Amino acid sequence: MKKLLIGLLIFLVVGCTLSDKKDYVNEQEVFSFANDINTDITINKYTIYGRFFNLEGETDINSNLTLVLKNNDKEIEYPIYREENKTKFTTNEKINDGINLESIEEGTYVVLLKSNEEYYNLKDASGKNYKELEYYTITCNKKNYKITISFENILDKSYLILTCKETKLPNDIYDIVIDPGHGGVDVGAISGKYKESTINLEYSLLLKEELESLGLKIKLTRNGDTDIYNYGEKGRVSIPYKSKAKLLLSIHLNSANLNVGNGGIEVYIPSNSNLNFAKSIASQVVENTSTIYSKNSSCRVEKGVYLRTLTKSDLEELENDAKKDGYTPYERATTNSTYYYMLRETGGVVTGAYIDGRNPKKPGNPYYNSNHGCESYLVELGYLSSSTNLNILLSEKEKYVEAIVEAIKEELKNGC
Ligand SMILES: [Zn+2]
Repeated sequence: MKKLLIGLLIFLVVGCTLSDKKDYVNEQEVFSFANDINTDITINKYTIYGRFFNLEGETDINSNLTLVLKNNDKEIEYPIYREENKTKFTTNEKINDGINLESIEEGTYVVLLKSNEEYYNLKDASGKNYKELEYYTITCNKKNYKITISFENILDKSYLILTCKETKLPNDIYDIVIDPGHGGVDVGAISGKYKESTINLEYSLLLKEELESLGLKIKLTRNGDTDIYNYGEKGRVSIPYKSKAKLLLSIHLNSANLNVGNGGIEVYIPSNSNLNFAKSIASQVVENTSTIYSKNSSCRVEKGVYLRTLTKSDLEELENDAKKDGYTPYERATTNSTYYYMLRETGGVVTGAYIDGRNPKKPGNPYYNSNHGCESYLVELGYLSSSTNLNILLSEKEKYVEAIVEAIKEELKNGC
């Protein structure tokens, strides 16, 4: 009797889980066009970075190719990018661009390619066995939607399925992560009695408060003057992954031995990014505070926007470190890799995270191979080493924070 009851319980639990997950399998109407779908096109990679879902693959079909999310009611079309006469295609040109998951309407869709009114199914050849992608939309009017993307077997065939459903945001899921740079024994830059770590925290706490008043759910990487590991499961880089954050702002202050005049703002971006959001943060701060665009021209890609990548000598140093510690060097690090770890290690495969924990003496990045990463920026608010800039940083905190909030509001306007 006891065995029978346990058996029944297992049947009920397994049965319920299956029927919950595969809700749409029975919704035949979603796939009433299944017979019109042509042979498979190969997908090598599918990722989420920040708010953007993207995929890349290969096909010989070379005319008018688009990507569609399709069900019986709707068909949403997205552009496909590829070089002329090349078989490789992608759905984005920059990492923070592509299919914006914030604009998907509730429903279940099949992800297909379309060319001259013909539909083509997608076949997963990534060989990565990625887990189901789970995305929570940014809180808007107290509402959130959960989007899942995965290959599912339906009617004996594998399809890439995207579902979007209203949901209650789980406790451990956040919209944005703010990272007050340094902390504890690592104070960062110093000017007289002023420590970078303290000012970073004060700015981050106020930024959190202001964003929360807009209804956004914000997580800080540290709430007090505490030490925090960079890597490992509890490390700084793991927080954006675990919280499935869409945006990360790492807050820092600069310092330089050279004469930097009156200092100024520098916003650092990861490699291959579209500059719009970084430009907007810098320009809002310059317009609404007494600070200026930094005069530092090293790594500058645009007024106030900077991209620092690993140099050949940085790579040599990494290689030597690896040899010394007796492990294989990080194979994915190149001269296009972003220098700052908070930008590089929080985007998974999209930003080329490479700290994979092979170094036995140091904890790694448990998510370095993840196909779901966070869109990250590092903001050097100003120079502690410039007395003019330090005075502005101390006296205009509210104006700075207001300016960053404006840039975030503008960036998320499609989402809310
Ligand atoms: Zn710093």
